[in-house]
Parts: sequence; C-alpha cells; structure tokens
Amino acid sequence: MKAIVTLNAGSSSIKFALYELLPHGFRFDAGGKIEEIGTAPRLRARNAAGEVILERDWQQANAISHEHLLEDLFAWAATQLGDREIVAIGHRIVHGGSDFAAPRLIDDALLDALDALIPLAPLHQPHNLAAVRALRALAPHLPQIACFDTGFHHDLAPLTTRLPLPRSLHERGIRRYGFHGLSYEHIAKRLRDIEPTHAGGRVIAAHLGNGASLCAMREGKSIDTTMGFTALDGLMMGTRSGALDPGVVLHLQIQLGMSAQEVETLLYRQSGLLGVSGLSNDMRALHASDAPEAAEAIDLFVRQAARQAAGLIPTLGGLDGFVFTAGIGENDACIRARICESLSWAGIALDADANEANAAVISTGDSKVLVRVIPTDEEAVIAHHVVDLIRSEGGISR
Ligand code: ADP
Repeated sequence: MKAIVTLNAGSSSIKFALYELLPHGFRFDAGGKIEEIGTAPRLRARNAAGEVILERDWQQANAISHEHLLEDLFAWAATQLGDREIVAIGHRIVHGGSDFAAPRLIDDALLDALDALIPLAPLHQPHNLAAVRALRALAPHLPQIACFDTGFHHDLAPLTTRLPLPRSLHERGIRRYGFHGLSYEHIAKRLRDIEPTHAGGRVIAAHLGNGASLCAMREGKSIDTTMGFTALDGLMMGTRSGALDPGVVLHLQIQLGMSAQEVETLLYRQSGLLGVSGLSNDMRALHASDAPEAAEAIDLFVRQAARQAAGLIPTLGGLDGFVFTAGIGENDACIRARICESLSWAGIALDADANEANAAVISTGDSKVLVRVIPTDEEAVIAHHVVDLIRSEGGISR
C-alpha cells in the first residue's frame, strides 16, 4: 500500500496531511497543523473521522527549528503508516513566478529558480523551500512535488497582469501574479461539482484567513484577483496591510528614514488587523475585545473587502455567485453578514438564520446572487496533483 504526504509550511505554522493511494484516487487518512512555531509550537492531528489522534507540545519551544519539527512530524507519520509506504510529498509553494504554473517534480534547478523568487514572497517562500530541503536531507530519494499558489491565475489576460509602470519592468517580471490559487482551485472544483455546466457563472470567491484575497472567476477560471505582484496586495489581512498608496512607502523611507527592511517588516508583520487594532491579528480576539480600536480594525477589514469585491464586478460583467472560504469566511457569520450587507446593491440578499448556522447556502431564495460557504482544502488539491503526476505517463521516479 502506498501513501503520500502534503505539506504547507509557513513562517509560524506547518499544515500537513497523509493520504492513502487507492486504485482510483486517494483517501484522507490523517492531517493537522503545527501552530505557533517560534513561540510555543503545538501539534494537533485528526483522523478521517475528525477525532484528535495526536496533540503535542515541545519543550524549550522557542528554540525549536522548522527542521526539527519536520523531523518529528516525519517520525510521527512513519508510526501512522503501518504497512504503507510514502511514495511522494506534495508542497504548497507560494510563488512560481512567470515560468512555473503546473505542478512539477522538484530538482536542483527548480529549487534554484524558486530561491530567486524569495524576495517576492518573503513571508512564505523561504519556509516552503526550507521544508523541501529538510525533507531532502531526511529522505533523499523521495520525490517532492511543487504545487504553486500562483498557478491558478496563470492564464490571466495580459491586461490583468499589467501594473501601470514602464513596460520594461513588466518584462523583468514586475507584474501581477495572484495567490491563494490552490484554495481557489478547490472552490472552482466544488462549484463545478455543484453546477457542472457553468461552475457558478460569474463568481467572486473570498478567501478570508490570516492571508486574505478575492478571486473573480468566470466559469471556474480566474479572471482577476486582488493580490498582485506579491501576497501583500489587495485586502487588509491579519498582519499585512493590503493595497496601500505607494506614496506611503516612499514617505516611510525618505521622510521617516525607515530602512527597506523595516518597511518590509511593518507591511508584512505589523499592519492589517494587528496594526489597526494594536491588539491582535486574530479576528476572534478582536470580536472578543471591547476596545474601540478592535472595532475599527474590523470595520476597516469589512470596508476593504466590500470595496475590493465591488471593484471586481466590472471585470466579471455582473455577479451570479459569492463564495466565502478560509478561517474567517467559513466561521465568522458577523463578517459575512457585514460584507454581504455592503454588497446588497449588487443583488446579494442574505438569509440571516442560514448565515448564523454556517450553512452551505446563506443567501435567500430570491437573492439574485447565490452566496455559499465552502470550506477550503488546499491539501486535497495538492494531493490531487501529486497523484496525477505519479500516475502520469512515465511517473515521477528519479
Ligand atoms: P491561515 O491563513 O493561517 O490558514 P485561517 O484560514 O486558519 O488562516 O484563518 C485564520 C483566521 O480565521 C483568524 O483571524 C481567526 O480568528 C479566524 N477564525 C477561525 N475560526 C474562527 C471563528 N470560529 N470565528 C471567527 N473567526 C475565526
């Protein structure tokens, strides 16, 4: 029996899943997340029935490296395997640049090319690639496959990829790419399952987690998205600013004397919900607070989401569907209600009870726009790609 592992290694968390290969397809076996790496890492894994099968804290927690955690994770996966053998590992790789869209086997040349994209995704790409290298050291012969978060947006129209800058910069790769592609690919697939003929038609999908973005999809394909050159663009996020007057960046450096490094830290790690509230990047903590700054951070998050969603409607030429996904999108009825309220002019009418219940469809029967809540599953998308590659002609053995 064979199994595959998927990994999504970020700066403070590693999500993982183990799947068993079946004659046709695959089956989720176990998965979970190591959170709060760097401060107090803890692991929780569940089996296919949703039961917690492992909970673990580490001693001397702040000194534990990603590599050490991966080693522990791999050792635990080995205990889960029984008579099964891991035959490949699939990774979420945030940035594939202009050259890499389809999932592919990682070799030295690809790793070098992906290293060069680290400055475009400093919060994610170094950790994605460090996980690949750590596993190469642990299991040198195990094929590892890169699945790119930019891939789903690879066929955006040239105009959508263009930034209003001199053309020569576009040729050097300074263009819009789009992210959260594995999540949107899952949403597009679910919509195709639900409505095979037109996959929901003209849809805005809202991935609202720690990172947040919107994707305008027509018949299941990305035609625009709020993240651009980097995953810093677009919506206000947990700790990222989202879209900002570029003059602010100049002012911070030229007038306030901040270094480029300091500005990077400010925009990626100290802004967004955390920066505006001064309290937390976690939406649940902000709801629980009675500080006016927490309320203002939530107000601004909602305002930005509705405003940028509205900005996608002309490209779509109208709106048939709206999908909420990721931590906030799947669980936070209050934020969903407020975004939908701001978009009521576009034909969204919310069913308050269905929304409170996190139902699959949360719009009223006569809403012009069908509003859904669809749990994302980036791991399943990665597993699909790995299985497709394993079973493709020639396979992936080195
Ligand atoms: P990541 O980008 O790290 O995968 P998630 O998709 O897990 O992020 O989303 C994290 C966000 O979701 C946090 O702001 C968290 O507060 C929020 N969230 C998770 N569960 C809930 C909930 N039940 N109600 C409101 N917000 C929630």
